[in-house]
Amino acid sequence: MRLLSVIRGELNRLFLIELEDGNRIEAVLYRGDTLCVSTQVGCPVRCAFCASGREGMIRNLTSQEIVGQYELVSRLVPIRRIAMAGIGDPLLNWTNVKEAFWDLKRRNLKVSFYTTGFPPDRLRDLLQLPHSGVTISIHSTDPITRDLIMPHAGDVQSIIQVLEEVLPRMSIRRRRKVSLAYMPLKGVNDSDREVQRIGEIARRLGVGVTLLYYNRVNDMEPVDPAQYERIFLKIRSMGVRVTLSTRFRKDKVGGCGTLVANREVRA
Ligand code: SF4
Repeated sequence: MRLLSVIRGELNRLFLIELEDGNRIEAVLYRGDTLCVSTQVGCPVRCAFCASGREGMIRNLTSQEIVGQYELVSRLVPIRRIAMAGIGDPLLNWTNVKEAFWDLKRRNLKVSFYTTGFPPDRLRDLLQLPHSGVTISIHSTDPITRDLIMPHAGDVQSIIQVLEEVLPRMSIRRRRKVSLAYMPLKGVNDSDREVQRIGEIARRLGVGVTLLYYNRVNDMEPVDPAQYERIFLKIRSMGVRVTLSTRFRKDKVGGCGTLVANREVRA
């Protein structure tokens, strides 16, 4: 694999990487020392708010290709943390991702995950690893709405069931490393009822909510800033820890949901 180009954003740096078979993937450096790596070429989940799944799934990355993204970028910048949050869902390439996880841990890196939580058995496995954070994309507790937003992300109830089974057995410190991601989209999953339900589930599970702001990649619209603020205050008033989308996640280069498989070389 080789580095094709580096695109500099306001805050992030996007690394376009070519694999041995000619496919391309992207990794993003953010916060100066954290590398968001891809786990698949394309993504089978095809979330409506994400450019990475637009072309569907091409293939899984090998564990060497996942670790290789770190090896390439760390020659240029010292990396301390890895987020398995780029193109693809880590749980859908679980054997290779787990192998890469242990390799990265042996190099003293902190490794966190972003996932749909599907399939639930693998989520159970992931939660037992010595990870530095797991964020599970819930986005809606209503099966029909979640299916509209994340068409191939399994049944939300079975994901919540695993969390209800596993989390109470964990220490408070470990539970604090787990959060539910909620990206309110205008007119889709932003009702008061939805906000209430997501807050209730997080409170019951003893986990936080990561409130994501949508980087527009299609016709869907983000909620306006006032509504985003109201949702934040509502969930927080329920006694739930809420993390807001950082500026890194909103950057035009490498922001959440903006990575693509097989981008042409720019810059
Ligand atoms: S948000 Fe994640 S799971 Fe959904 S399409 Fe994008 S890369 Fe895949």
